[in-house]
Amino acid sequence: MHAGHESGAVAPILVAIDGPAGSGKSSVSRTAADRLGFGILDTGAAYRALAWTAQRLGIDLDDAAAVEALLGAWNYRITLRGAQQVTVAVPGSAEAAAAELDAPHDITAAIRDHAVSGQVSRVSKHPAVRERLNEMFRRTVAESGLPGVVIEGRDITTVVAPDAPVRILLTASPEVRATRRAGELPGLSPEQVLADLHARDAKDALVVDFFTPAPGVTLVDTSDLNFEQSVQAVVDIVRAAQGVAEESE
Ligand code: C5P
Repeated sequence: MHAGHESGAVAPILVAIDGPAGSGKSSVSRTAADRLGFGILDTGAAYRALAWTAQRLGIDLDDAAAVEALLGAWNYRITLRGAQQVTVAVPGSAEAAAAELDAPHDITAAIRDHAVSGQVSRVSKHPAVRERLNEMFRRTVAESGLPGVVIEGRDITTVVAPDAPVRILLTASPEVRATRRAGELPGLSPEQVLADLHARDAKDALVVDFFTPAPGVTLVDTSDLNFEQSVQAVVDIVRAAQGVAEESE
């Protein structure tokens, strides 16, 4: 990994975690990061925030050039410690000012909306958009000043941080994933949740493979694990890797 940009700053230890929706990835990664004293970078939040911003500005999400142009003016911030907070701003344009996006706008709750989840794949499918966000993720982590960062998404173990010392793919059976998601979305029937989950996975899987672990990636199947056991599995893998690193020093 790269050294930090400030003199003497040490690059954070990276823990890369991928997995499909409902695998427990977000909540497990967050709790594991807390326990390790690390930060957490939720990359899905950036794709969600980008889709939200484009929709708000009336930009066609399928138009790669338009979404990329938006990224040039997009000011995105996410907290890496404590409760998640996501803000966006698009300074300097009359359209953005009319949409109240000329100053930082808190969209922490808005990006979890079911309507956003159903549209994110339309922005995440553009390769040029992915490249720009990936650069942003790497910069955010390098400049974090934290001892370590858990970074979670769909292509972290393979594209964003393939050299991370710890790389994990969290999975669970489709039934377990749908049940977990249904618990988070009380307004929807389990059948609806399952259908939405499959539709989103199918679209996302056209762009990145997050069902099979790449070489060197540790598979953690959480189907038969409760939340605490899943967190412990991740923490154990990180601690084992740290132990190996210390022994070889
Ligand atoms: O993880 P989460 O469900 O919040 O991700 C929302 C969406 O963002 C995914 O459905 C996918 O389209 C996109 N995504 C991605 N690559 C990542 C993280 C998320 O394409 N690394």
